[in-house]
Amino acid sequence: MRVAFLGLGIMGRAMAANLVKAGNEVTVWNRTPGKEVDGAKTASTPAEAAQGAEVIWMCVADTDAVEQVLFGEHGVEQSLTSGTIVVDSSTISPSATLGFAERVRAKGAEYVDAPVTGSKIGAESGQLVFIVGAEPDVIERLQPLFSALGKATLRMGSTGKGQAAKIGMNLMIATMYEGFAEALVLTSKLGVESEAMLQLIQSSMVRSGVVDYKAPFVLKRDFTPNFPLRLMHKDLKLMLDAARERRVKLPAVETVEEVYDIAAEEGLSDMDYASTLELLEKWAGVEVKGNGK
Ligand code: NAP
Repeated sequence: MRVAFLGLGIMGRAMAANLVKAGNEVTVWNRTPGKEVDGAKTASTPAEAAQGAEVIWMCVADTDAVEQVLFGEHGVEQSLTSGTIVVDSSTISPSATLGFAERVRAKGAEYVDAPVTGSKIGAESGQLVFIVGAEPDVIERLQPLFSALGKATLRMGSTGKGQAAKIGMNLMIATMYEGFAEALVLTSKLGVESEAMLQLIQSSMVRSGVVDYKAPFVLKRDFTPNFPLRLMHKDLKLMLDAARERRVKLPAVETVEEVYDIAAEEGLSDMDYASTLELLEKWAGVEVKGNGK
């Protein structure tokens, strides 16, 4: 297929490379020039990349970035024709997604929200899980591309439901991780070895994929970004905005967001979100120690 891929960050660059590997004719664009993908053409604007493409796939930072790419100067909108499918794998506002889809459909094109889970490793290995808001026939047309990029395509409902489900999932990741970090800090302060605590967690009903994934990094104190704190911070704001729009109260998320606000002030935005542990440690006057420390 002829695919335009817009946004070559941690996730997008690996995804575009996998589309090339699967034999698609790919044209890429990134806001900051200089990023390229082997085997793909490079365009100088979103409109140029989208010219003649059957599918236009975006993976950019946030809601404003998607709006810019679609409708800004030299945006995708100029090149939309009937039958083109626009896919958004960024994590953005569910309500803004509805507005973007309406504008794209006014040009005769289709719009699919398909945020992902699987992080950098999933993007590189073609093992992402797509969380999709679209009608089944449109998903079917995209299936060869979803298969090149991921291991599962889960339909959450109509337009916007992919983004809604994605922020619901990240709500659990952020709050579960904070629970894990707070438990480690409190029990360290009370004198329990972290390795023993971890053994208890993994042998009990609080065992989780979040702990499986994050514990080795925490015990090594490796907070280099797999999922940068600034992006989870953005997702916490998306959750709270969506909650306000629909009159939902999220007390745990409100508290976690305050922790992230302070983490950002302390310069942790480009570290992994697991680095919020360091703030809790500072406040408690204790350090969680793993093997070899
Ligand atoms: P990233 O490495 O920070 O890359 C962000 C990309 O967005 C870059 O290509 C950046 O371009 C572009 N961008 C930012 N602002 C823009 C604007 N105003 N106009 C046009 N382009 C703009 O982020 P990422 O990790 O690839 O994440 C991309 C999306 O996937 C985010 O919504 C994130 O929440 C979601 N996601 C990430 C992960 C993960 O583990 N990393 C997992 C699941 C979902 P420049 O190069 O010019 O800055």
